[in-house]
Formats: sequence, C-alpha cells, structure tokens
Amino acid sequence: MLSYEQALETLLADASLSSGSRMRVETLDPALALGRVLVAPVCSTLAVPPADNSAMDGYALRVADLVPGALLPVSQRVPAGSVPQALAAGTAARIFTGAPIPPGADCVVMQELCEAEGDAVRIAHQAKPGENIRRAGEDIACGAEIIPAGTRLAAAHLGLIASVGIASVEVVSRLRVAVFFTGDELVMPGRPLAAGQIYNSNRYVLLGLLGRLGCQVTDLGIVPDDLEATRQALRQAAAGHDLVMTCGGVSVGEEDHVKAALQAEGSLQTWKIAIKPGKPFALGRVGATPFIGLPGNPVSSFATFRMLAEPYVRRLQGETEVLPRAVSVRADFAWPRATPLREFLRVRRNAAGGLDLFPKQGSGVLSSCAWADGLVSHPPGQVIQPGELVSYIPFND
Ligand code: AMP
Ligand code: MG
Repeated sequence: MLSYEQALETLLADASLSSGSRMRVETLDPALALGRVLVAPVCSTLAVPPADNSAMDGYALRVADLVPGALLPVSQRVPAGSVPQALAAGTAARIFTGAPIPPGADCVVMQELCEAEGDAVRIAHQAKPGENIRRAGEDIACGAEIIPAGTRLAAAHLGLIASVGIASVEVVSRLRVAVFFTGDELVMPGRPLAAGQIYNSNRYVLLGLLGRLGCQVTDLGIVPDDLEATRQALRQAAAGHDLVMTCGGVSVGEEDHVKAALQAEGSLQTWKIAIKPGKPFALGRVGATPFIGLPGNPVSSFATFRMLAEPYVRRLQGETEVLPRAVSVRADFAWPRATPLREFLRVRRNAAGGLDLFPKQGSGVLSSCAWADGLVSHPPGQVIQPGELVSYIPFND
C-alpha cells in the first residue's frame, strides 16, 4: 500500500507533466479572471502610489515651521487629483486624503488637531517628519513582480492588477473535465427508487467540488456495470476534455469494470492507499487524456477528492500552491483506535475554538461531510486524547 504522502507526490508529478505539455491559455479582462490561475507573473511598470500623498484630511507643512500654538497662513488648497505648487516657506497647505504632497512639505497634521482662523490655521500639535504621508512606491515599487505565476486570482489580486493599470491578464483556460458515475444501482433524483437502487448523490458532490475550482464539467451520466459500456464512456469522455474523472467501480470486484476498461483504452495504476476512508483510487490515461478514478462510497469519494484529486486538478490548472493546508487545532474529542491507515475525520470547529467530531464516521455517511467544516488528517498508528493538537484542514468554502 502507498502512503498518503507517496500517493500525493506521484499525483502531483503526473499533473505537472500533463499541465506542462497540454496547458491552454487565454487573455482576460481582470474583472473576469476571479478564481483563474495566472500563466506569467504580473509585474508593475509604475510605483503605487505614484507620488507621496496625504493619508488624512488636514494641513501639509514643514515640521521646522511649526511652533506649537502658532498661526500659519494657508497658502494653497490641494484636493485629491490636483497638482500642488511648492510650499511657500512659513505657510501650510490645506490638503485632503489622497492628494499629492506639495514639494517642500514634510508632514500632514490631521484636521482634528488644527483650528482654521480665516486664511490661517492654528496648530498646537508637535508633528514629526513623515507624519500622515504615504510614500511613493510604498505599496508597489516600479518594476516589482506583484503576483507570481501559478497564483489563483482572488479579489484582492484583481485589484492589485488594476492598481498598476494593467487591463488584461493571461490565465489558464478552464479545465474541461468529463465525469461519469458507474453502478447498476444508481438512479437520478426525480425518479422513483426501485428495490435495490440508490440515488446518484456523488454526481452533485463532484459537480460542486469541480465547479468550485472553475472547471468546465461535462456530465456523461450513469454508466452501467458493463465492460463495453464503460469503455465507450471512457472514449467519449476523453474526446475534447483535459481530464476524465469517474466515480465507483475501481475496486477489483467482479462488478468493477473501470480497471479493465481503462487498461483497454489507455493505461492505469490502481492504488491501494493507506487512507481511510478512501482506498481504492486510480490514476491513468485514456489515450493521452489524464484519468482519475474515485471510489464510489460517498464519503470516500468526497475525502479522496479533497485530499488527492483536488491538488491534482489544481496542479493541472497550473497552480503552484496546491497542498491541503493544515492548521493545529485542539481536538475536543477522543479517537481511541490506532490503525495502520491515515484517517480523514469529519470535524467541525466549535465556539470554544476546538474541534468536534461527527459521531458517525462510516464511509457511507454523507451527512458527516455536509455537517463538517473540515477534515482532521490523523496519522497512522496514533490515538487522539481530548485536548491534544491535531492537524485540521478547513474546507474554506
Ligand atoms: P463501488 O466503488 O462502485 O464499489 O461503490 C461503493 C459504494 O458506493 C456502493 O455502496 C455504491 O452503491 C456506492 N456508490 C457508488 N457510486 C455512487 C454514487 N454515484 N452515488 C452514491 N453512492 C454511490
Ligand atoms: Mg459499483
């Protein structure tokens, strides 16, 4: 059996290889690039802010001219968007937030500390040089790389790009993912359930998880437990897609046809990974198209997506930072059984800042995933005592 770390490493190496050779890119208005991955670093050809400017509404002056309690004549008015004159000696300039600092001024005294008297201002405050001045280039230096390649763009990134005047960015095209669900027992919601049947709940989980990563998903529906049907579905899925993802049928039972179908249509490595829930899991190719096979059990499918398929998809999309990010949080529960497997426990943060455990941790209990706000990644061979720090991976969605 592979360890979780070995499986993840192999997956990421495979995804890096595929994304390098197959990546499609496009140029977008940054306003349309939320959640997309940058192809090349964004660099600034200007400084932000472009000039020293005021952080406050108030008066710009020279610290040396300031005798506390003295009256200074106001020699100019500088609203944001205007171009100031050099500051005449022994005077102050009325100034507003964001307005450029007049040459010669070395501080801004906020208006709450000033008293206007006709065309002059009385200032009792002892200002320091640089006070309330935002320096040119304080946010971004001219020529600086502001966002590295491989970054998934969040709202603040889009603003940062706009702040340096860039109106288009090169991003990775949406990953085209074809999915299907194997199982003679599966039925779509909206239809009555006959004896022995269950609803295809994994479809909804998978579409949600892939959609959240910005994938363009083609759903090929439910495929019966039949070798020929599975082979045909694989061929259809590979055409015009960047990734094929299936759910169910990857074990080695008589009714599991994904393995044989994939061996006929491409290549396959099925893995037994030392994780719970989760094994089995499959990586392969249909023709030249990357393939991921998730287990059918709803919790296994969800957890392996989060912990293995998601990093894979992110790397296929060209993203650099793809590893699930764990934080140390106190367990407010006991996990008394050590097993040789890494376990992904469904947990939720409580008001006291600790973690509660969903009482039913079975691999068929999808309620646990809906209730949870993250997983504990619990290493093999260990137990958890209440109060111990554990490795918590929040879902962040
Ligand atoms: P399998 O991996 O095909 O052996 O399926 C393992 C378990 O997951 C079985 O109990 C299946 O009925 C169930 N299962 C498989 N696919 C789905 C699905 N799409 N939605 C809900 N349950 C499923
Ligand atoms: Mg099955």
